[in-house]
Amino acid sequence: MGCFLSSRAWATLANPFPQLRDTVSFAMSDSPFPNQLAPTLLSGDELPAFTVLNGESTRPVLFLCDHASNAIPKSLGSLGLGSAELADHIAWDIGAAALTRLLADRFEACAVLTNYSRLVVDCNRPPGEPTAIPPVSDGVPVPGNQDLPEAEAVRRTEELFWPYHHEITGRLAHLWRQGRPPVVICIHSCAPTMDGFHRPWHIGLMYDHDDRVTKGMLTALARLRPDAVLGENQPYSGKDIGFTINTHAEPAGLPNLGVEFRQDLVRTAEGVADLGGLFGDALEDVLSVEALYTCLMA
Ligand SMILES: [Zn+2]
Repeated sequence: MGCFLSSRAWATLANPFPQLRDTVSFAMSDSPFPNQLAPTLLSGDELPAFTVLNGESTRPVLFLCDHASNAIPKSLGSLGLGSAELADHIAWDIGAAALTRLLADRFEACAVLTNYSRLVVDCNRPPGEPTAIPPVSDGVPVPGNQDLPEAEAVRRTEELFWPYHHEITGRLAHLWRQGRPPVVICIHSCAPTMDGFHRPWHIGLMYDHDDRVTKGMLTALARLRPDAVLGENQPYSGKDIGFTINTHAEPAGLPNLGVEFRQDLVRTAEGVADLGGLFGDALEDVLSVEALYTCLMA
């Protein structure tokens, strides 16, 4: 199960409990990359890299929202973008944070949400991958991401990306120690149109190797709302995309799901309540099956 990450990678994914801080710092200071800079991206009056909801919950379910916010750290200005571009889907997953909060509340489950835009660093991409810090997003040039020095890419990754993923590792470990393998659910939303193609799916459900949650949700959603248009590995495939699930859930065999809500349907509080309520009803069914709480090993 550890074959996907080197021992060094596991060391830097160490859990965030205070007694291990020194260990984490040591592992990171050993890096060959030019990241010896003091943390400077966020100032003291800004939100940290992520927010945790219901951190006291021991229910074996963790909701994650990689693209929850369109905020840019003050030190980066607006990345050269206008307010309309920063409000659009290139900067965040519209409606996804509200859906994550609704589901965390309903299930009294822990959730971890990013506090900064995917345009600063995308928490669902492997660091270094060309779209991890996109110079262009859906055809829109991002001036603040052009010709980025590697030290700046590393700084964003160290200050925003890894803290979020360290937190996920720690939260999953904490839930797993209670006895049952936790279920990982990543909440996303997608633009209704991409490259001139109108996406018909109201909700897309994604999996890579482990399709247990996806298959259960497809069945339950179709029963609860027969006219819902459901995508199976559409509009994105879990086989092509998804650092978060591919790092935290799949190698360990944890049951998991990536979900894409179509943004035009979850732009408003009413839309969030409707599709979030439907999704929650189906998830109640799926999570009630005790056999789900096992690890699926390849
Ligand atoms: Zn997303």
